[in-house]
Amino acid sequence: MTAKIIDGKSYAEGLRGRIAGHVQRLKAEHGITPGLAVVIVGYDPGSQIYVSQKAKQTVEVGMHSEKYELPEETPEADVLALVEKLNRDPAIHGILVQLPVPRHIDPNKIIATISPDKDVDCFTPASVGKLQIGLPGPVSCTPLGCLMLLRDTLGSLAGLNAVIVGRSNLVGKPMAQLLLRENCTVTVAHSRTRDLADVVRGADIVVAAVGRPEMIKGDWIKPGATVIDVGINRLPAPERGEGKTRIVGDVEFKAAAEQAGAITPVPGGVGPMTIACLLANTVTTASLINGLEPPKDLTP
Ligand code: NDP
Repeated sequence: MTAKIIDGKSYAEGLRGRIAGHVQRLKAEHGITPGLAVVIVGYDPGSQIYVSQKAKQTVEVGMHSEKYELPEETPEADVLALVEKLNRDPAIHGILVQLPVPRHIDPNKIIATISPDKDVDCFTPASVGKLQIGLPGPVSCTPLGCLMLLRDTLGSLAGLNAVIVGRSNLVGKPMAQLLLRENCTVTVAHSRTRDLADVVRGADIVVAAVGRPEMIKGDWIKPGATVIDVGINRLPAPERGEGKTRIVGDVEFKAAAEQAGAITPVPGGVGPMTIACLLANTVTTASLINGLEPPKDLTP
């Protein structure tokens, strides 16, 4: 079997188009311009690129964007004060503090200060609780993106065996909640799981979120299964020139594509969905803050 390649880049492009339509409607019918504030502390080059991408795409879909670049040595109290100011700002519906933050700042304190109503990353305990019991609100961006790709590929997910490899708060755990809501039978595997190959072999859906290059082997994949590879791993690629790297996922792509029914590539699969879902979450929070029902196609 040769798998269908799930094109996250093109799905994300279509999603941004839909988001732009919702933003237009919110402006025209309710006078609301969804606003996203992104805060970055310090000079991590990877984070800088990511934050610039977020700000650019926010503007492209017609939203209001604010970017706060604070120097590395900014005291924790100043970051907390900025978050509190943004909590009160009616032009802002989503607040994202780019992690990691410098060592002298406690990320948990920052997260706890973000108003759950504006928590577009779905990091606060209140947002995590809402996700767990199925109340409306923002949903962790990467798992939301994975769910959209799965639904687009498979339609109904009810009754399917889903194996998630990885149990982080960022990906694995919220993914498990979302797939449970879809009526999948969910198994969450992790570093202490015995015979991971055997666990994965029983999966109709595999979501790999481990952070280990090509750890999930092609012959672990059940024929016809759908494979969502969240991993982003950078490997040296001397064939491309000195100091060059290439990005691979957590799944042995070529061999897995021989077995799977459908599979996401890395890059070009889940990656592009994450920022698009951040924008989707900002439309959701802007709607909820103003007492409107969020667009159904942007929520789980
Ligand atoms: P974490 O490091 O927080 O979690 C990794 C998980 O993998 C842990 O639960 C760990 O288990 C598990 N694990 C580690 N080794 C093994 C093993 N040998 N067998 C089984 N499970 C194992 O990573 P994240 O969830 O934050 O990210 C995972 C990957 O996804 C990374 O490559 C990251 O770069 C990528 N990512 C991509 C995004 C995107 O937009 N595409 C967004 C976010 C992340 P244990 O809990 O037991 O330690």
